[in-house]
Amino acid sequence: MAELLILGTSAGVPTPNRHSFGMAVKQNGKLFLIDCGCPASMLLKKMGEDPRNIEAVFLTHWHPDHAGGLPMLIQDLQLTQRRRDLTIYGPAGTTRKVEWLQNMFIIPPEVYPFVLKTVEYTEATLYEHGDLRIQFFKTGHLAQDNWRKLDEKHGFQITPVAYGFVIAIEGIKIVVSGDVLTSEDLTHVLPGADLVIHEFGHIHPGKLAQFVREQHIANLLITHIHHEWDERAEELQRIVSGGHSGKVRIAHDMMRIKLGTGDQG
Ligand SMILES: [Zn+2]
Repeated sequence: MAELLILGTSAGVPTPNRHSFGMAVKQNGKLFLIDCGCPASMLLKKMGEDPRNIEAVFLTHWHPDHAGGLPMLIQDLQLTQRRRDLTIYGPAGTTRKVEWLQNMFIIPPEVYPFVLKTVEYTEATLYEHGDLRIQFFKTGHLAQDNWRKLDEKHGFQITPVAYGFVIAIEGIKIVVSGDVLTSEDLTHVLPGADLVIHEFGHIHPGKLAQFVREQHIANLLITHIHHEWDERAEELQRIVSGGHSGKVRIAHDMMRIKLGTGDQG
């Protein structure tokens, strides 16, 4: 039976209670890491998991709260002698960024005993592993004009782009928002979703409540919590669930959700 492991649950500013964003799907002893905020490898170990069991890493985008744990994870896997190839799936520019990262953190491919691969996914990509499927959809988080202007100024070389994921596993559909511009970024992927995992770093709580009601979201998990709301989970839960009959939960670090038991539905 598959499980969701919630790692860090903060947005851009970690707090004493919440580490940077990350989660993993676990099935048959394999881990599929969804974003890698710091300290993903340490949080996996705290949850009793071995990071060497990571099958692949999927990055929604390259902001530090989603990818900052990657060099530490690679060093961890180097020193714990991972042997199997590891593939990092990320948006356009990922291959070059992983090369930069290897140089910047002095972890060239020659020093570790596994092959690090990259795949730059698009909306046309379908990842499949057993019955697990992941599809990728663009969000508006990095789509604004200011990012294109900064790209021209600083030469990021590829204009940054952010995605959300649709995960299908064991007959269950999970929508992971990634970072959004507005909740409407998700509207087209919501039909049939058994669990919607929505970020709360860029959204007004009243707007999120309205969206959840209008879209009749039956099962919502809020994570990527803005630091000002870190210790106001009950208030946030009350606002978003007000006038809404569906289930609303606020994620916390190291939360486990068993899929297929009704826990997700
Ligand atoms: Zn973020």
